[in-house]
Amino acid sequence: MPIVELDVELFYSERWMRAVQRVQLTNTTDSAWTEVVFNVPLNAVEDAFYLDAVTVTLGEIVQEETWEMAAGNGIVRVPLPQPATPGEELSVVMNFRVVIPPVSQASWPPIGTTGWTATLIQAGEFYPALVPYIDGEWVTWDYHPVGDPTFYPATDFRLTVTTDDPGVTVVSGGFQGRADNIWSFAVEGARGIAFFASPDYVMAKGEAVGVPVYSYYLPDHAQAGEDAVEVAERSLELFTELYGPYPYADLVVVENGFFGGMEYSALASITDYAYHVYQGDPRSVLHTLIAHEVAHQWWYGAVGNHQAVEAWLDESLGFYSELLYYEAYYPDMVTWWWEARVFRYERYGPVDATIYSYSVSSDFILSMYGQAALFVDTLRETMGDEAFFAFLQDYYRTHYGGIVTGRDFFEAVRRHTSEDLNPLLEAYFAETAY
Ligand SMILES: [Zn+2]
Repeated sequence: MPIVELDVELFYSERWMRAVQRVQLTNTTDSAWTEVVFNVPLNAVEDAFYLDAVTVTLGEIVQEETWEMAAGNGIVRVPLPQPATPGEELSVVMNFRVVIPPVSQASWPPIGTTGWTATLIQAGEFYPALVPYIDGEWVTWDYHPVGDPTFYPATDFRLTVTTDDPGVTVVSGGFQGRADNIWSFAVEGARGIAFFASPDYVMAKGEAVGVPVYSYYLPDHAQAGEDAVEVAERSLELFTELYGPYPYADLVVVENGFFGGMEYSALASITDYAYHVYQGDPRSVLHTLIAHEVAHQWWYGAVGNHQAVEAWLDESLGFYSELLYYEAYYPDMVTWWWEARVFRYERYGPVDATIYSYSVSSDFILSMYGQAALFVDTLRETMGDEAFFAFLQDYYRTHYGGIVTGRDFFEAVRRHTSEDLNPLLEAYFAETAY
């Protein structure tokens, strides 16, 4: 597994950061690599991302280069000084700066899920993330501001964030400790690392299935911030029972500054809007979004997929997990969930639509996710509950730490049912050969 060490200096009040990323990897494939490829979604924002230098170490050779990137596509192809043969180790060190863009609360979500508001800074896809190497090539894709245009191999991440202001709290998954203004985090088998920072964050703590749970929220939102702990605990308990063991050492739920939620490894970011409108009723986006983002720790985190091309693989199960949360804890609210989350919106297009077939993120989410929930519900009905949950556990176990495609999903389904799936595929999928 690649090892990434990311050391960030955050200049909170000036809203920029300087970082060094060290990536250590071994060529575990059977082809020689002539390059290593990264992707920086935030580079789609003008004047936000500056890659200053790239240093490759391969055997005895050290290749140091300064770099210039135009805004736009965030693909960084780092040529190697000589091919890295199978089994060979190499390291890539990248020095970069980020001028953090402002985010509006209406962004759904902001480009590269990075930005500042008056009360916080969020840093999501702000660093050059190694792309997966599959079937003899580095997988690249075009940035498109719909859904989650990312795709990561499981990686061991170590993150430090040094703030210029000791009053700023830094939040991420895998908390290791704090020495003055240096915050350390480590997440093994992570798809991506992110952090949030604010001088105002308040923390509430809990625990479920032996996993510490932290909720970070802004002081005006105490009830929501405290209830978030219980929602996360219940989600952890339920999904551990239904799917399998939780993949990380802790779980953090954090209030963000845009419209929507976002999953990162061991970290669920939830829209401040959900906190703002929360009145204590479980029929709320606070509950649905926390259940959803926690479920992504299984589907996205432990079991990865190409989120630009096959978004349905993680989103159908993330979204349907909301319903499973209500079924388990508030069964009289199941009808409300279908109405509020699915039937209220117009739905069109196949479940396996790519993000490129939509031009607006909210259309993609409201339409595809609704279709996906109906698909999963019909699949469950077709298989029966026992076979359906046995399939999910088998699929989780088989692909833990790996990357799946639609083919893997349906192969796992077919290990648990002999029902004819063709009517289901024809009703919901463009690719009916599954
Ligand atoms: Zn999701």
